[in-house]
Amino acid sequence: MRKLVAGNWKMNGLTASLDELVALKSILSRAVPACDVLVCPPATLIAPAAQRVQGAFALGGQDCHAQAKGAHTGDVSAEMLKDAGASHVIVGHSERRQYHGETSAQVALKAQAAWRAGLTAVICIGESLEQRKVGDANTVCQSQLKESVPEGAAASNTVIAYEPVWAIGTGVTPTSADIADMHGHLRACLAARLGEAARGILLLYGGSVNPGNAADILSLPDVDGALVGGASLKSDDFSRIIAAMKPQAGPG
Ligand code: PEP
Repeated sequence: MRKLVAGNWKMNGLTASLDELVALKSILSRAVPACDVLVCPPATLIAPAAQRVQGAFALGGQDCHAQAKGAHTGDVSAEMLKDAGASHVIVGHSERRQYHGETSAQVALKAQAAWRAGLTAVICIGESLEQRKVGDANTVCQSQLKESVPEGAAASNTVIAYEPVWAIGTGVTPTSADIADMHGHLRACLAARLGEAARGILLLYGGSVNPGNAADILSLPDVDGALVGGASLKSDDFSRIIAAMKPQAGPG
């Protein structure tokens, strides 16, 4: 499974912002990345983005409803995202959990909705600062993983993003040792839960990744890529993060 650098534009971006994606496409055509690339713009921009980037990199949504259609004013289904040109959808981002009260059980239903529509679910988990301070980070993330990742998860349909809530948009990151510890823990939890199916499920780190720290973070054991918020909005910064991914050693 190739590693992945993903951008989450959150509620940022108007039609003019598509120029950033065209610029990213151009940069990536000159410097072929050592990983897969995904950009999750606002849902309104997925279809025009798909037209402009023409498959040069993947596009995704930032959330989806668990149902395929129906009386859910303002919501977007996984099928709609797929129809607009998405291949992935982020579910369970901490901003959804925090500001929309989403529970892990709801996140699991959204992940299943993503699979139903043929999308890869990028399932986010992560502890708060209080939880880390009292030493609960591992157990909190383990429960979120257990409750948010449905049976049937595999490398072909699921990516996990570990995003400590206190690192998102703050400019603060955990130490390299803490990131590596958590990713090792999550890798072991996935294997215990899913057995052989866990093999190859990508584990992304997210939270204040930028061009200056990307190389260190992306080189850590069990870190298979990054989910990038603010620094994904500008093609220049985002492409420097993508370029920080070192080519993987081949077999043998
Ligand atoms: C995010 O929101 O998923 C994120 C990682 O944000 P930032 O990179 O801005 O911390």
